[in-house]
Amino acid sequence: RAKNRGGGQHCLFSEELALEYSRKVETETALTDAVQRGEFLLALQPQLSLLTGEITGAEALIRWNHPRDGVRAPATFIPIAEQTGIIGDIGDWVMAEVAALIASWNETGKRRKRLAFNVSPRQLDRADFFGRLRQCFGAAGVPLSQIELEFTESAAMECSAATLAEIAALRADGATIALDDFGTGYSNIARLRTLPIDRVKLDPSLIKDIESCDKARVIVQAVIHLVKGVGCEVVAEAVETVSQADILRAMGCDTVQGFVFAQPMFETEFVAWTNGADRGLKGAA
Ligand code: C2E
Ligand code: MG
Ligand code: MG
Ligand code: MG
Repeated sequence: RAKNRGGGQHCLFSEELALEYSRKVETETALTDAVQRGEFLLALQPQLSLLTGEITGAEALIRWNHPRDGVRAPATFIPIAEQTGIIGDIGDWVMAEVAALIASWNETGKRRKRLAFNVSPRQLDRADFFGRLRQCFGAAGVPLSQIELEFTESAAMECSAATLAEIAALRADGATIALDDFGTGYSNIARLRTLPIDRVKLDPSLIKDIESCDKARVIVQAVIHLVKGVGCEVVAEAVETVSQADILRAMGCDTVQGFVFAQPMFETEFVAWTNGADRGLKGAA
């Protein structure tokens, strides 16, 4: 009996694997056309100063408006896009869309501070990524001071010297550089001193337990101290409660991004939210 059940489980397991594989192939095929079909959207999530409550910027987060499944989160397709190289085209689309958004905001006279977007390490494989980035924003009339590039900690640690020099040059020309998901990879703390970065984004896993756990607070306090000590700004990500925000403020964290203040929103809602926040919500932080 036990044997039979074991065999059954084995069979079920293979079916699951087969299903997962076929989903992956399906996603891969659909992704190839999704850029041309205009199926991607950017959701925008505000970032707020913990000191003043002001909106200091926003992060652009990709969504796939899938013809059958509806709006899909990046976790369901970005890893596949990275494995297959389709991330190159998707990344170019994100860049162009960010440039167009900022340009249109500038035109209406409501100049927003900065829009951040995520850059996958695989995008840097494509020839002349940095040249094309400069071309993209230059053609749209968007100064580099209005953009922020987010590289994950693990990606930054693997960057070649040539890539780091390109990033440093962008930064020298006004772009803001953020280290994303800090605290999840092999946090090479010594590298913090030499990487060309302005801000460090604390990974949600660091923040999750700060209300309930003394040790979690000690760790976050130490990381904030370290990051600020080397001259970088600290951004806390996925802040979900007012008390987390209060603790982070008391610890000297500069900026927060999280559901407690705002979800990622599509453009119309984002613009309305930021207009409202500029008028009256300043005290909310
Ligand atoms: P990330 O860059 O670390 O983005 C932050 C993620 O945290 C977003 O998930 C955001 O919706 C989520 N988040 C924000 N506030 C809260 C909160 O209070 N609670 C919780 N639980 N989550 C919160 P999202 O949009 O699903 O994106 C996931 C990841 O996908 C991103 O992590 C980033 O690594 C990747 N990604 C998103 N857009 C792009 C893109 O355009 N290009 C590339 N290469 N990767 C992207
Ligand atoms: Mg990010
Ligand atoms: Mg992150
Ligand atoms: Mg992430």
